[in-house]
Amino acid sequence: MHTRQPAKPPPEISVPDWYRSGIDHVWLPYTQMQTTPPPLPVARTSGSRIFLADGRVLIDGIASWWTACHGYNHPHIRQAVNKQLEQMPHIMFGGLAHAPALSLAARLAKLLPGDLDRVFFSDSGSVAVEIAMKMALQYRANRGETQRTRFIALRGGYHGDTAGAMAVSDPDMGMHRPGSGLAPAQIVIEPPLDERALARFDDAIERHAASATAIIAEPLVQGAGGMIFHTPDVLRCLRAAADRHGLLLILDEIFTGFGRTGTLFAAAAAGVVADIVTLSKALTGGTLALAATVARRHVYEAFLAEDAARALMHGPTFMANPLACAAANASLDLFERAPHLEEVAAIGEILSRGLAPCRNLPGVRDVRVMGAIGVVEMARIADLEGLRRRFVEKGVFVRPFGNVIYLTPAFTIAVQDLETLTRAVVEVVREG
Ligand SMILES: *Cc1c(COP(=O)(O)O)cnc(C)c1O
Repeated sequence: MHTRQPAKPPPEISVPDWYRSGIDHVWLPYTQMQTTPPPLPVARTSGSRIFLADGRVLIDGIASWWTACHGYNHPHIRQAVNKQLEQMPHIMFGGLAHAPALSLAARLAKLLPGDLDRVFFSDSGSVAVEIAMKMALQYRANRGETQRTRFIALRGGYHGDTAGAMAVSDPDMGMHRPGSGLAPAQIVIEPPLDERALARFDDAIERHAASATAIIAEPLVQGAGGMIFHTPDVLRCLRAAADRHGLLLILDEIFTGFGRTGTLFAAAAAGVVADIVTLSKALTGGTLALAATVARRHVYEAFLAEDAARALMHGPTFMANPLACAAANASLDLFERAPHLEEVAAIGEILSRGLAPCRNLPGVRDVRVMGAIGVVEMARIADLEGLRRRFVEKGVFVRPFGNVIYLTPAFTIAVQDLETLTRAVVEVVREG
């Protein structure tokens, strides 16, 4: 069979030696390697700018999958990581404790609502979700409720790429994927978006509650599932249903956490306190891999006993990595010092104004904005790669997926840059 090697850049584009010698040895994320256009060679980043090795400069509309909320290379985070690097880049977390992790845990406990105050660190969002699921399972086992082993998740949700996380993601993107057989199928139901859906939601919960330990959901925004927005009422329905049936509520704030939707945590907009919360993505301001699973006191206390078998048996090798924790502490400093939530509100206004012209363009199904998230939902996008290429030609990095074009810029982005991004979206959509 004929196979081509499309990951090679066209000969007219000058690429550095590292690119030429390495490109045929990496396997790219979510990518059909046979047909993908070559990835762009990046030399460096700064603020909301991506500097390509061939001299082109792109304005970044995505902030590296929503992580770089203060922009790239923020001097305060860089300094904190440099300092930590000289003192202690890593130390195992078993039997040893260190200042960056303990300070961070205390700060997260203070920032999160209610008694969400026990932090379990890990190194990626998917793993934080696995840990949340493991906590919810063993919580039941420790209480002798051995029948309650399933999870109730929402259609349109996305919780990561590992086995358990896939099983609670939308089946269209999760359970039907190869590898989904790794974990048992879970219960995925329609979110209670309106009165009719609410009745069906309550029915489904009623039916499954006795065999389930927890409801898991993304608060306010289902991100990778299509940038679907929910009202705070949906969140309150989830909390009420969980309370009615003695279910735990796991809120996955990996996308929404740290200001993206307009409040520091999305659940705050609804006044809802989850039993377990997962955090990652913007936790370190987009500099290092770190995640956290945070439990309320009643969850934590279910693991306390003389019996060692009731302990939570989990411990990633790089758990609470000091460099990553130092970066996260520095990021939290910036949330204390800079008016990020006001910046998010201002970004929201510019996104609304800038993307509004898309409303009347053919093929556009919806335009919506929440916090620093701007979404143009198309009826369909036939040529995703073509669209991505046209954005690069306009000097911006925007990466549509499924049928959505979205902007999730750094909170520190300059107004002109943000307007360049929205203008590029309008032009690309107009060009069809
Ligand atoms: C990105 C994401 C994850 C997975 O995080 P990784 O660090 O990629 O494993 C889980 N849940 C949500 C809501 C996410 O946006």
